[in-house]
Order: sequence, then C-alpha cells, then structure tokens
Amino acid sequence: MEDQEFIVDLKKMKKILSNIDSGCDFEYLEDKMGFALKIGNKYDEKRGSFSQETRNQRSIYYYFLATFFMAYISKKYDKKVEYELFSDRDTSCFVHSEDKIYLSKNLFDLSFANIIFTIFHEFRHKMQADDIKSSESLDNILSIDPATILFYKERFARGDIYDNNHNCFIIENDANLFALAECKRFSNLQNEIKEIANGYIDMGELNNYALFIIEGGDITTEEFNDERNLPIVYEQNYLCKKKIFMTNVPQDSLLGLVYDSMGYPKSYEKIIKEKEELLERFRGQVATINIGPVNHYQTNSYTVSNIEFINKIFRAIVNSDPMLTIEECFHLCNMDSDKFYSKMHIDKIRNIFDNCPKLVELYFNELKIIFTREVEKGNAELALEIVKGIPDLEDMVENIIKIHKMESGNSTGSFK
Ligand SMILES: [Zn+2]
Repeated sequence: MEDQEFIVDLKKMKKILSNIDSGCDFEYLEDKMGFALKIGNKYDEKRGSFSQETRNQRSIYYYFLATFFMAYISKKYDKKVEYELFSDRDTSCFVHSEDKIYLSKNLFDLSFANIIFTIFHEFRHKMQADDIKSSESLDNILSIDPATILFYKERFARGDIYDNNHNCFIIENDANLFALAECKRFSNLQNEIKEIANGYIDMGELNNYALFIIEGGDITTEEFNDERNLPIVYEQNYLCKKKIFMTNVPQDSLLGLVYDSMGYPKSYEKIIKEKEELLERFRGQVATINIGPVNHYQTNSYTVSNIEFINKIFRAIVNSDPMLTIEECFHLCNMDSDKFYSKMHIDKIRNIFDNCPKLVELYFNELKIIFTREVEKGNAELALEIVKGIPDLEDMVENIIKIHKMESGNSTGSFK
C-alpha cells in the first residue's frame, strides 16, 4: 500500500524535477508548493525508521525537497545558484571563492523544517556575496542591501575571530533573519522553525546590536548594552581598516565612500559631504528593498525613496565604525546647543567605551587624531566630558589639550 503511494509520488516528483531542470518559472513552483509541503510531511513521518527501503524513499524525498526549495528561492530572487547536495562537509555552507552552496550530507536525516531553513540561510549568503560584488560600482548602489558595508567588513576581516564567534557575526544574524522571514509562510512548521533558530543563535540577541545595525537604526538615539556583538563588530572594523590601509580603493565603489584612494579612512565630515553628492546623483530615483533582514517582518518587497535608501547605507557605515560614531557625536553636539541632547549623545559614546574595553587600545592612534582635531576646533571641554573616567583616554585628551595650549600660547606670544 505504502509502496503504491510512493510510486505515485515518485512519478510526480520526477515530472517536477524535470520541469525545474528545463527552467520552469516561479509561478510553476508556487503552484507545486502544496505538493512539496506534503512530501515534506511524509519525509518527516518516515524519520526514525530503520528499514532500508524507507531510508531509500526518504533520501529520494530529500533530494526532491532540496532541489525544489533551492529552485524556489533562486527563482524568487531571480538568482542563479550553484549547489551540491550530499556534500562531505560537516556543516552546510556557502563558499565565496567558488560561489557555491554546499549542503552537508548531515542535513539528510534532519527534519524538513531544518532543510528549508538551511537552504534559505545559505542562499542568503549567496545574496550577500552578490551584493558585495555589485558594490564595486556606485551605479548599482540602489540595488544592493543597505547593510552591505557590514557584510563587506566581515568578509574582509574574517579568520580566527570568525571561527570562534560564528554566531555573533552580522552576516550570520542576517542569514538567520532572512531564513526566518522566508519560513513564515509555512505556518505548520513555525514551532519547529523557532526551535531551529534558537539552536542556531540565541534569539534573545535579536534585540541586540547586530539586529539594530542590520536594520539601520540610529546609534545616537538608542540605548544598547551589548557585550558580545558590538565588540566583535568593532574589532572587525579595525581589522578591515588595517587590511585596506595603503591599498588602492576605487572611489566609485561602496568602499570608496568610506576610504580614500590610498585606503585611508575618510573623516565623518567628508563622508557626509559625499553622501549629499550621492543623493544628488540619484535624485528622484527609487530603490527596491527585498523582503529579508532589513525588513524581516515584511512579506513583500517595497520601494523607498533614494533618500531613505542612501540614508540607510550611511547609517550602516557610521554604525559599524566607532570612530565615525564618535565624530558624529561631536558633530551632533556642535549642531545641538541644547544641553539635554548633548548629554544624550555623550552618554551613547560612553556606552560604547563601556561595552568595548578594548576600543581604546585598538583605536588609540585614530582616537588621538580625532580628539586633536576637535580640541583644535575649540571642543576641548566636550572632549574632556566624553573621556572623563576612561583610563588612558582621559590622559591622552588632557595631554592633547596641554600641548594645544602651549602651541597656541607660543604662537600668540611670537606675534607680540
Ligand atoms: Zn551561515
């Protein structure tokens, strides 16, 4: 009896697979979704059986499901993706250098929910990689994810810290959010999906800096207290800077918005000026935001004005670099004479130093440049208020002020 049922399924699966192979459209896959979900249920039902025959049937179901959902997500986002099923790798992954998704052989035998979650997760890594590539020209800027600069930095700075802190990474948070959003339509799998996500990453972290930064929130208006993700984001930013320094950065690229042609980080003022130029360049245009991490609660893609979109990109640029965040604080304090707001901006900066004890050590030279510039601009008092009670940094700023007083004292002296 069961075999009869399997034979009927097999026939249908073969037909669908052959249509996928010959390049069906997205509507066709949507049309067959009901059938695919039934196969998913059967695949789950057959779990736990040790009979060889059932295992064989399950592996055919698995092959169908993986191929079907890979085709489904690729068509949905209009992307060609290379992948391998039953890879020998221990875990599924997207390999950048090969531009290819490997689904681990270990995925077979896990639940249906696990399979689709993993496929969507790895597919999101392919999207991130494509956005990084697209960001080589500013012409494409309105079609990439506004958080691409964050993916770029993580790609660049990965290595030891990636392996040790895999789940803290924004690209991982982002891929999980994407997979969760894509899984929303499968209402009967929700509980299991949540469980998978919980195992994958501590979902409590979703309220943390990583999500905040993906969504493009304004760091100066939010309270956050994150001892895990934020330090890693900042450490990566530092490693990325170190690698980019003294390399040739094409100026008409996303990276060129942050670094000059010699790989030297641009100042906040310069970045903001260039943002205005970019807004002018794309004046009147609109951008499409796909469903995904940036708006993981949305169900359809939507369009936004170039202004909103470019603002999101610059938000991510500033958020991911503590030096730009500090410079922005000075900028906002100078614009806002209201003491209440000044205090708020200063508190946020102090919060960053509290969260990342390594910040001063990592960025010592850059901090020196920023604080010297601000003292010379007449912001000595503000600078002192920001660094009050932070060891090393307080000494540094006091020294800068002393030297500045001596120098300005000398120069007026020599004129008399
Ligand atoms: Zn991943």
